[in-house]
Amino acid sequence: MIIVLTIMIANITQSYYNNLINPIDPLSIACPCCKETGMDIHGYYHRKIKNQNCLDKLDLKIRRVICRNPECQSTHALLPGAIVPYSQISMIETVNIICAKSVQDKEAVMLSNPLIDYNDILATLRNFKKKWRRRLAEIEASLGDESFFEKCISSFNTHFMQMPDTICGSYSCHHTVRLSLPL
Ligand SMILES: [Zn+2]
Repeated sequence: MIIVLTIMIANITQSYYNNLINPIDPLSIACPCCKETGMDIHGYYHRKIKNQNCLDKLDLKIRRVICRNPECQSTHALLPGAIVPYSQISMIETVNIICAKSVQDKEAVMLSNPLIDYNDILATLRNFKKKWRRRLAEIEASLGDESFFEKCISSFNTHFMQMPDTICGSYSCHHTVRLSLPL
C-alpha cells in the first residue's frame, strides 16, 4: 500500500481520487517492500467509503500498481492520505471521533454523517486506545503536527490508524499535508 500524502478532505469522490492519482507516473513510485523505484499499473479494486452528506456508501475504484523489480513484484494500492487503510471512515472523520470527548460530541459526529454508527465510533476509539495513543507518545507527535502523517508512516510503516499493520510506503504529492482539527 502506498499513501499519497495530500490535504485531508471530508468528502472523497471518484473524481477527487482520479485527479489526485491519475497524474502520478507509476515509474516514479518507490516500492515499500524492496525500496526500488519503478512500478507498473496492475489493475483496480473497489472499496467503500462512508462520506458525509451521502445516503449510501461511495464505491471507490482504487488503482493498484506492481513493482517492476523481478525479485519483488509486490502489488500495492494507491490511497490518498485522506483515507484510512482498511476503514470505511475518512481520516478527517476518524480524527473527529478521536477528538470527541463527550457523548454529545460523539452524537454530533453521527448526526453529521448518518452512515457512521455507534459501532464505528467504538471500533475507532478502541483502535486508537489500543495502539495509536502509545505510538503517538513514542514519536512525540500530536494530531495537529504538520508532518504528523509522514512521521507515522516513516516510524511505523503504516498510515495513522491503519489496521492491520501491513507494510505501507508514502508518495509525496504536490499538495501540502494538512489536517484541520475540529478543536
Ligand atoms: Zn518491490
